[in-house]
Amino acid sequence: MARLLVRNADVLVTMDDARREIAGADLLCEDGIITAIGHGLTAPEAEVLDARGCVVTPGLVNTHHHLFQTLTRGVPGGQDALLFGWLSTLYPIWARFTPDHVYTSAVVGLAELALSGCTLTSDHLYLFLNGARLDDSIAAVQEVGVRLLATRGSMSIGQSDGGLPPDSLVEREADILDDCIRVIDRFHDPRPGAMIQVGVAPCSPFSVSRELMRDAALLARDKGVRLHTHLAENDEDVAYSLERFGCRPGQYAEDLGWTGLDVWHAHCVKLDRDEIALFARTGTGVAHCPCSNCRLGSGIAPVRAMRDAGVEVGLGVDGSASNDAGNLVLEARQALLLQRVACGADAIGAREVLEIATRGGAAVLGRSDLGQLVPGMRADIAIWDMTAIASSGAWDKVAALVLSGPTAVRDLLVEGRPVVRDGTLTTLDLPAALDRQAGLLRALMAG
Ligand SMILES: [Zn+2]
Repeated sequence: MARLLVRNADVLVTMDDARREIAGADLLCEDGIITAIGHGLTAPEAEVLDARGCVVTPGLVNTHHHLFQTLTRGVPGGQDALLFGWLSTLYPIWARFTPDHVYTSAVVGLAELALSGCTLTSDHLYLFLNGARLDDSIAAVQEVGVRLLATRGSMSIGQSDGGLPPDSLVEREADILDDCIRVIDRFHDPRPGAMIQVGVAPCSPFSVSRELMRDAALLARDKGVRLHTHLAENDEDVAYSLERFGCRPGQYAEDLGWTGLDVWHAHCVKLDRDEIALFARTGTGVAHCPCSNCRLGSGIAPVRAMRDAGVEVGLGVDGSASNDAGNLVLEARQALLLQRVACGADAIGAREVLEIATRGGAAVLGRSDLGQLVPGMRADIAIWDMTAIASSGAWDKVAALVLSGPTAVRDLLVEGRPVVRDGTLTTLDLPAALDRQAGLLRALMAG
């Protein structure tokens, strides 16, 4: 049996139902599962991690990302554009992506997430050109060692049919559905503790047909997997929905089967009061991506109103073409700051944001086995050294994690296995991965 004992944490943030924070706590995990939390724990032959000076939290959960975009940070022409102009700049670059670009970009993006405390991420891949497949992102996560909910994205309505993407980037709808079935059958693990799950994720209402949205929902329910897309991201998005479909995004989603406990939508910046009530009533989740929303000038998502109404909200860094960082702690800080800009300094606290980043994200991704440090849960654990400069002088270490940092973990455990130790990835030769990424970038920039 593999035993690991985390000892003497300054504060252990459980995120349990009572939101207990335990000072001077120990945590024991055995074969990937948390088996005890308390004081003075002992376990024969256990590996011991000393967490003195540290805050220990559940692993952070990222509910929205496009890992392939880690190769397109800060692209000129896309730096200062709104959503539709930004996409139109990037489509021709992404059109040149091969399996190697998708894989390498995902390795780097996953490494970046892991160093910022992320143990579970979703990925939304919607470009399948030059032989690239969802399998390429999945190969990357198997190397890095965090958990992945890989969603099979798609685009089917090109410019000639009134959509946004160039015709050369879209797929036939029958091929999309066939490939969704292939990747679900090949990779989706429905069991507790799953390292890889698969979801179905047409890219957005402005790049696929009503028929594909409806068929995707039917397929996902038949297979028992989750549904994901972008919704109500900015004013252009809502205007497209009104003009093309004659209704607001919430109505469009509801009509096509895109509400429910097995659905989560990215952004939702422009949801109105009725749409928030719809999401709360149906258990539909939201991936809140504050940095991306700022970067693209999309607006401030009504997170306070959503949470008050009972909508499940998780945090997402979104793709690195629109963030451009992929750091979940920075994302949590931005979520706090942005709600306060909109609603005042007492609108949301550091602990609530930390909750959104951990158990909130796990709930949005349908993982009742993750997001809390409680016996019986899987051992996904982030250990934060609070003795370094970022948090020196902090009176409240849990709040400091969000308010001041650190923005990188000291240690990260996934299923009780070390992925980061003393600030370094144990699973991956990161300099080699960055070299490979740099080579691909040089070739892309050369045209
Ligand atoms: Zn996105």
